[in-house]
Amino acid sequence: MNKKLVIFDMDGTVYLGKNLIDGSKETFDYLDKHHIEYVFFTNNSSHDLEFYEKKIKNFGIKCSLEHNFYSSTEVTISYLKDLGVKTIYCVGNKCLKDKLAKHFKYIDRYDENVDVEAVVCGFSTELVYDELKGACLYLQKKDLPFIATNLDWRCPIEDGLYIPDCGGMCEWIYRCTGKKATVMGKPNPVVIDYLAKRFNVKKDEILVVGDRLYTDILVGANANVDTLCVLSGESSLEDVKKYEHQPTYLLDSIKELPSLLEK
Ligand SMILES: [Mg+2]
Repeated sequence: MNKKLVIFDMDGTVYLGKNLIDGSKETFDYLDKHHIEYVFFTNNSSHDLEFYEKKIKNFGIKCSLEHNFYSSTEVTISYLKDLGVKTIYCVGNKCLKDKLAKHFKYIDRYDENVDVEAVVCGFSTELVYDELKGACLYLQKKDLPFIATNLDWRCPIEDGLYIPDCGGMCEWIYRCTGKKATVMGKPNPVVIDYLAKRFNVKKDEILVVGDRLYTDILVGANANVDTLCVLSGESSLEDVKKYEHQPTYLLDSIKELPSLLEK
């Protein structure tokens, strides 16, 4: 198999919560030795990528922040820059706003004297009513691009409990304005286009690896690139069998990835 770039999901694929999945480290050692690029992509915009870099490094996996880690925030920035956007309205955590502020002028409260060219919404644990209100006012005034970093309804925390995620925030805005957000993370194929450009590889040289069908496997199907579904996380074999987009490959875990790549 002639793959030059492997795009990994993290939780459920490389590790499960605090524990590294057996054989993961050896798989990354193999990729490194064979000069196959690997990146970790997350839809979660509430953590800095430094958080993930530290976590992956602590497992002993060779990686660097600048080279190996990407999120829907990077895709959002690249997409808005391509559109020529200069000023945005942002709902989200401080870490999302800080990142966007390096590339755009942003506001996070409605100001009738300021014209914005896009509305961005990310998962926020710091959310206040006025932020959502401002997004609704701008989206009603003008037909602006409305971008979400992810559209998950809920985010898992400890003890099998969940907290509201970005999908719910965007739904709140939709119910007021009738405007639906476009997600700049998986399963939108813009993620694959962005990484293919970034690493200068062709689509048939890419493999997407993940445990979740409707994000990891669907993004590959949408972009027409090969996918590997691992059964170490969210999906069971029965879930995979029932799913309308079959992964190209199916393995118990990424431990078996080197032998798959040898084929
Ligand atoms: Mg996962």
